[in-house]
Amino acid sequence: PLDWQGKHVTVAGLGVSGIPAAKVLHARGANVTVVNDGDDARAREQAAELEALGITVRLGDGATLPEGTELVVTAPGWKPDKPLFTAAREAGLEIWGDVELAWRLRGPDAAPWLAITGTNGKTTTTQMLASILKAAGLRTAAVGNIGVSLLDAVLGDEQYDVLAVELSSYQLHWAPSLRAHSAAVLNLAPDHLDWHGSMEAYAADKGRVYEGNRVACVYNVADKATEDLVREADVEEGCRAVGFTLGTPGPSQLGVVEGILVDRAFVEDRHKNAQELAEISDVNPPAPHNIANALAAAALARAFGVPARAVRDGLRDFTPDAHRIAHVADVDAVAYVDDSKATNTHAAEASLAAYESIVWIAGGLAKGATFDELVAKSAKRLRGVVLIGQDRALIREALARHAPEVPVVDLDRTDTGAMLAAVQEASRLAVAGDTVLLAPACASMDMFANYNKRGDAFAEAVRELGS
Ligand code: ADP
Repeated sequence: PLDWQGKHVTVAGLGVSGIPAAKVLHARGANVTVVNDGDDARAREQAAELEALGITVRLGDGATLPEGTELVVTAPGWKPDKPLFTAAREAGLEIWGDVELAWRLRGPDAAPWLAITGTNGKTTTTQMLASILKAAGLRTAAVGNIGVSLLDAVLGDEQYDVLAVELSSYQLHWAPSLRAHSAAVLNLAPDHLDWHGSMEAYAADKGRVYEGNRVACVYNVADKATEDLVREADVEEGCRAVGFTLGTPGPSQLGVVEGILVDRAFVEDRHKNAQELAEISDVNPPAPHNIANALAAAALARAFGVPARAVRDGLRDFTPDAHRIAHVADVDAVAYVDDSKATNTHAAEASLAAYESIVWIAGGLAKGATFDELVAKSAKRLRGVVLIGQDRALIREALARHAPEVPVVDLDRTDTGAMLAAVQEASRLAVAGDTVLLAPACASMDMFANYNKRGDAFAEAVRELGS
């Protein structure tokens, strides 16, 4: 255990990770200073609360490193090129994120971590994994970016056998000594490049999740970049590379054979070369990208020694979070599906691939993305498109280039009521058997507080349509 008594720790950022970090370190005897860029009413309120405990808080100056700092603990979202970090690095100091802190503070008998990262599918896969582990009778929780915070999971009274941990690329960047039991990178597509600086840096941060793995590094056979990361990782002796694929699995892979999820990496019966795990219909929803998520979750569970039956039961018990390919209703034999969480093109491509004939509702804030590849790949499935939101022209232009025959309704609106209009337009374009799919490929903040609100507005519009 580390000796925190009198240690000068600078915590960067008040907020969901900074405040609990400051409190925990202070309680262990550290001499804590919190620095924060903002100086608004809310920050002052939070500062007052911490100061009452004896923690120093510096508002309106997150750039200068306090004199005497021995360690920096940062909120994961702070960019690595900030002057505070440059100064810390020059002084030879370590910089820990929230995950590193939890990792270092965990007790000697702490539960091992099964870690999941990737551009899309993290939350879903982490929850599937937790569901499978529970079905195996293990004490577990889905933690990290979701549900219980890592610090609470590690320091709380609840005892766990194993943790299903979702990790973002930011968190991994700041977690140099994390060593998972096993880990999966689900996929790698350009995202958050402004933060990481380049695709290489982004991939390298994701790849950190494999460092020091003991049992298995799980990768996506269809995404070579994930396999490359496994090859580059420095792992414990005996740790295996385990692939997952929607096709027939090779040795050391999990895959799909005639509608059955099968495992060829961890086979209990040595007279067999494959173990049947579950049926595709056990996966909810049984869309291709989600079957891939299920296989990744199964691979990690199997690496932890979970029996096949628990994989099936856990997948059956699992229900996805709201706004992730959620079937809202059928109206006049047209299905209305809410995938408001598809906030980037890679996610939208996955949900468009799950349906045959689609009226697509898209648009919002593009965050610097281009839409040519998405539109070109999805063109043949599109019955029609309804565009909303600030950056819709980018999608309209891509449609004109790659799908000129597909009818497009450009709503030219960013007000909240636009969603009802969009659903009405979509219902006019759709014919029986079609799916009206909200998969915006964009962030929502031009029109809504967040993707949840956008999905709620869609569901409400569909109900109005049906009544
Ligand atoms: P994350 O936590 O990584 O944001 P989620 O599980 O919340 O991922 O899913 C976000 C969105 O990404 C979903 O709404 C779906 O559109 C898409 N998605 C989920 N899994 C995958 C996958 N394996 N590949 C591509 N897109 C996916």
